[in-house]
Amino acid sequence: MKYQPSDDILKYLKDMRDALREALACAYVSAKDGNNLLPNPVALRRKVKPWFDSRYGDYAKHHVNPVCRTAVALLKSNRKRHRRLVLPHVRKLAIRIDSELFRVTGNGDGTVSVRVTLKPFNYEYVTFTPRHKKWTEYSAVGEISEILLTDKKLYATFVVGVDGEKFLGRRLLGSDLNFKKVDSSAFDGVKGRLESPWGKPLKRIVQVQRDFSRRRRRLQLHVRNPQKRGTKLAETRGRQRNRVKDALQKLSTEIVRENPDTTFIFEGLKGIRDRGGKQETKSKKLRTYLNRWPYGMFQRMVEYKSRCRTLYVSPRGTSSKCPVCGGRLKHPAWAISRCKTCGVDYDRDRLASLAILQRGLRLCGQPFAVSAGASWQPMKDEYLYAPGERKAGRAGWTEQVANAPNRSDALHKTTHF
Ligand SMILES: [Zn+2]
Repeated sequence: MKYQPSDDILKYLKDMRDALREALACAYVSAKDGNNLLPNPVALRRKVKPWFDSRYGDYAKHHVNPVCRTAVALLKSNRKRHRRLVLPHVRKLAIRIDSELFRVTGNGDGTVSVRVTLKPFNYEYVTFTPRHKKWTEYSAVGEISEILLTDKKLYATFVVGVDGEKFLGRRLLGSDLNFKKVDSSAFDGVKGRLESPWGKPLKRIVQVQRDFSRRRRRLQLHVRNPQKRGTKLAETRGRQRNRVKDALQKLSTEIVRENPDTTFIFEGLKGIRDRGGKQETKSKKLRTYLNRWPYGMFQRMVEYKSRCRTLYVSPRGTSSKCPVCGGRLKHPAWAISRCKTCGVDYDRDRLASLAILQRGLRLCGQPFAVSAGASWQPMKDEYLYAPGERKAGRAGWTEQVANAPNRSDALHKTTHF
């Protein structure tokens, strides 16, 4: 939003620019002294505060906080761009202002005033007509968390639903993250119905991981100089992390976009990596895959992008209890969950997504009209394990399945999974 700054605001902006320069220099020096490690904003504030107070003691004490945060952020982004620590020269007049230092009021005539506390009990008003098309939309559902004030414009950052204030979606989606795909089961709260489960392959991520592990192996074999090898390997790791992160960003955006008004349910992070406990012996290769897949990062991205609340459920026992009947599950092979009570073999990951969804539903205290278990009884077939060929004796084939004619139909139906 454009606005006309008063003299006091201009003076304040200039003072804060000077303070920012000082804080930058201070952070730069301490980084140079200490192994190129940038101080965190809190540590920096400890150093800058005495100077700030002696020089700008009139200003409200809070103003030193955004100065220190901005200084560290600027140095960080500059270091990223130049690949070394460079002291940026600040020319523009711009300062972030924390929420405790301003208040927004509508004036009734269509204009909005932001009251900024420059000094204790000494306010300046920034008045403008909100013409931005997002203004009404955002101010209806969120509030301004921070403003960025320049000598010409005011930028407002809205927080739309802070954590805990986000609402549950009208649809719940339990997702099981595994190393090759994301399996999901969704429950439509409006219709009170379970939807067909689906899986999303993670080809891009698997590909990146595979490429890089191959690249690393090559380096380990062919670069003799241990020092050089070390740097090369570290470089590869960094690049790999960026590529994976990028792929995760795309994937999470896609998933959030494809599932509007949906509450995502994930397994709580603790335990995901050792799901199945000690009873299960996993191959080393599989373990590395599991460890490399940055589950946590993906969950955080989805949580942050989704406009609905995200739930986390305990992963304990998701793979040992049958979500359809409550019976005990066995795993004759990694991909299979066998339930004796149901008498069938399920696709392990799909069934896990159902278990996660169920836990999420329970966590919500059943806010929907659910006819509980009855809802997924007829859905059972959708979770069945599909052997590549209909040949008895293969992994995933049980006597019961082979003998039940209606079951084998179902199996046939699910072979495209
Ligand atoms: Zn069962």
